[in-house]
Amino acid sequence: MPKYAMVIDQRRCVACMACVVACKKENEVPPEQYRTRVVEKTEGEFPLLRMELRSELCNHCDNPPCVYNCPTGASYKRKEDGLVLLKKYRCVGCKSCLAACPYDARYINEEKGYADKCTFCEHRIKEGKEPACVATCIGRSRMFGDLDDPKSSVSIALRENHAEVLLQAAGTKPRVYYIKRFGKPE
Ligand code: SF4
Ligand code: SF4
Repeated sequence: MPKYAMVIDQRRCVACMACVVACKKENEVPPEQYRTRVVEKTEGEFPLLRMELRSELCNHCDNPPCVYNCPTGASYKRKEDGLVLLKKYRCVGCKSCLAACPYDARYINEEKGYADKCTFCEHRIKEGKEPACVATCIGRSRMFGDLDDPKSSVSIALRENHAEVLLQAAGTKPRVYYIKRFGKPE
């Protein structure tokens, strides 16, 4: 069974936002809402400042507070591949998952009423394709694949580079890894 993950090489991001646009088109995300975004992060103290570009999305956590706090069982972690998904018909829009997620990865879809977020383009994976954001990334900053396959791009990237997850201390065990442009994360 695959163990899907994403690796984001921040050294290769050129902030073109193609991933953001591809995601919105692929997943019919409402105009003012986002499943993924690219944000600027400034580190250090003046005058020694440096800026990183960081793609953010649902981390498909192995220890997902959004799932544990969903009162209806709408949010769940799929056993066969670890994706954190939603049974839309069960979602009552109570926002408990939004409050529980420390990554601000969810939103209530303003057109459909349920708690939406990145699915790693589960519908594309089923067809043997990469998530839309990965397929469109011109800098090859975003990589997607199976951590249990030593030949996958994500396994190779994690073997060859120092990578970290966001908010490791939160204990959510994310499956999105970051290779930073400037050394270790804050
Ligand atoms: S990033 Fe947030 S929404 Fe995604 S699995 Fe983790 S806690 Fe849930
Ligand atoms: S908004 Fe939907 S998915 Fe989120 S906790 Fe409530 S019922 Fe569960």
